[in-house]
This record gives sequence, structure tokens and C-alpha cells, in this order.
Amino acid sequence: MKTLLITGGCGFIGSNFILWALGKGWDQLRKQGVDQLVNLDKLSYAGNASNLKQFDNDPRYILVHGDIGDKKICQTLLEKYEVLRIINFAAESHVDRSIESPEVFFENNLMATVRFLETSRVYYESLCKNQAAEFRFLHVSTDEVYGSLQPDDPSFVESTAYSPNSPYAASKACSDFAVRSYFHTFNFPVLTTNCSNNYGPMQFPEKLIPLMILNAVEGLDLPIYGSGKNVRDWLFVTDHCLGIVEVLAEGKLGETYNIGGMNELSNIAVVNTVCEILNELKPRKDGLSYTEQITYVKDRPGHDFRYSVNCNKIQRDLNWKPKEDFKAGLKKTIEWYLSNTEWCQEITMKKYKRNRIGLT
Ligand code: NAD
Repeated sequence: MKTLLITGGCGFIGSNFILWALGKGWDQLRKQGVDQLVNLDKLSYAGNASNLKQFDNDPRYILVHGDIGDKKICQTLLEKYEVLRIINFAAESHVDRSIESPEVFFENNLMATVRFLETSRVYYESLCKNQAAEFRFLHVSTDEVYGSLQPDDPSFVESTAYSPNSPYAASKACSDFAVRSYFHTFNFPVLTTNCSNNYGPMQFPEKLIPLMILNAVEGLDLPIYGSGKNVRDWLFVTDHCLGIVEVLAEGKLGETYNIGGMNELSNIAVVNTVCEILNELKPRKDGLSYTEQITYVKDRPGHDFRYSVNCNKIQRDLNWKPKEDFKAGLKKTIEWYLSNTEWCQEITMKKYKRNRIGLT
């Protein structure tokens, strides 16, 4: 029997992962021998324990409030719960914030990850042979480490040279290198995934899609950076979770796997689709389209033009590919935001004034 430790499980992707794992995904995890989930989260502005409050009394789920960089907490919980699987989601994740406070990103995404790797390695080396053979450390990274593409460039593959352009991307690239070094130097059993832009329920409203949904229905501007032509590859969050589970189960140790949505769209196309779906689900009182609220604002410094992820490796080796159609996934996402107004209001009132543009 195994405990799966999830770090950053109160954030957007982590919460969706845990909801899936304790619901539809439970049988799949049980087949991997997992019988308990521990969620370690420092509950930063982006962490929201109430995302998972339905599991407060579920014996399969334990929430620990703490930082992955805190060696004492990590050592204690690795030993106490006899952890054999780790998914490391914990990170600062917003590019705009990394431009405002780069040091916070390197401290958290690099140094805290290194401390966590080191604590995990010491723990791993204390395991008996059978347990050590089962142990896995999966590090969740981003396609942004590969840099920016021009319209006709081929998509990123796992061997594309890293070329990060924002402090966020650079801090994630550094953490990927740290993870890699633990494999090659210490034979520490790691796996890394590099995924594209996720979308879905419970994403913090500073990111593009939730920001546009909430601004639209409140009658605010829909601010778009530059020309709106920057391209991202959009991945439904549940598809991402399914990919992670495959890599955890069958991925080759020390390897990296790209996980993408196979769904490249310009930012303006995404926002137009958000407006189109909102026109249908919650029409404006004046009968006009929400696209009337679109405005263009000064571009972000160093704004990468295009990300595109080639997922052939995970498709070929692990038989994973994204299932969700973008428009259907976006509709589910918008419906979630429209029916969870309290969740949105709480965040907006307590933690964050929605006055910035959001792109991951
Ligand atoms: P998020 O910002 O919504 O959530 C991050 C969570 O991690 C929060 O709950 C926060 O409290 C927690 N956290 C941060 N630092 C921590 C620390 N030192 N110790 C413990 N907990 C900590 O982020 P997200 O969108 O869910 O992203 C999760 C991971 O996926 C990140 O590593 C991110 O770089 C990566 N990623 C995200 C996307 C995306 O589109 N959201 C795309 C590619 C990669």
C-alpha cells in the first residue's frame, strides 16, 4: 500500500488532481497500490483549502499546511505516512508576478524545490529495497522552459534546448535541472512532465480564461496584451491529470514527457470563444456580444509569442492523448465559474483585486 504525496494540492491543477483522484480516478490509483493522499501546501495566495473541503472527513485524504522547503515538516511527513509516490505541483505560477518579484520565484521554485529534493533523497535512501523500487518523484513543469516559437517553427519536443525568457520560466527551468541532476548524480528516481497552458475549474482569477469570464459578466473591460496574436496550446486540466498518472505509473525513470492539448490558439481566439459561449449561457442585458468589452493594452515585457507542444512521446510510449474538445472543455469551465460565484467573490475580496491581465 502506498501513500501519494501531492504538493501544491490546494492550487488550480493540484485541486483538480485530488478531486479526480478521490473520485473517478480512485480505481486507477488503487491499481497502482495507492491507498492514501497527503496534500502538502503552504496555502499561498493561490492555495485554497476550501477547494477540497468535501474531503475533510475522508480517511483517504490528509491536508498538511507547510512549505516544501521546510525540511523538518517534509521529513516528518515522508516518514510518518511512509510516502512512496510524490507529485510536485508546488510553485509560484504567474508570469506577471515573476516580473514584479523575480527573487520570490527563484527562492520558491528553485531553492524550495532543491530542499525538497534533498529531504526526499535522504528519505528514499532510508527505504528498504522493495520500497525503494516503488518510490517515484514526479516533478510538474511547464512548456515555457523551452522559450518562444515563431509561427512556422516545429513544436517543442523533449530534446528542445531550454531557452526560458521570463523569471517564472527560468525558475522552473532551474528546478527541472535540479531534478535531472538528482537522477544522474544520486540515482534518485525522478520523472518530469512539461505541460502546456491548463484551463478548467478552480483556476485563480488572475489567469487569462477565468479573468475574462469574471470581467465579462461584471461588465468590465477584457484587456488583451499587445495584438492578441500570441499563441498558446490549451490543455484541459483533467487531461493533464490523466497524463500525470500515466507517467507516474509507466514513465521511464529520469525521462521527461511533454503533455499538451494539441490545441493551439491565439489569445484573441480564446477570448472570442469565451465571449461566444457567454453570449449563449448568460447574454448581456443590452443584447450585444461580450466582445464589445475587449480592449488591447500594452504588451507584457518579453512576452513569448508562441508555445506549441509535441506530445508524440507520451502518446507513443504511454498511450496518452488529450480527450477534451476545447469548446466543450471551455463550456464546462465557464459553467463552473458561473455557478461558483461565492468562490470567486471570496478570492476577489480577500486575496486579489482583479485589475491585471492574466496569462500563464
Ligand atoms: P497555482 O499557482 O494555482 O497553485 C500553486 C499551489 O502551490 C498553491 O496552492 C500554493 O499555495 C502552493 N505552493 C506554492 N509554493 C509552495 C511551497 N513552497 N510549498 C508548498 N506549497 C506551495 O499553480 P497551478 O496552476 O496549479 O500549477 C501547478 C504546477 O503546474 C506549477 O508547478 C506550475 O509551474 C505548473 N504548470 C502550470 C500550468 C498552468 O497552466 N496552470 C502550465 C504549466 C505548468
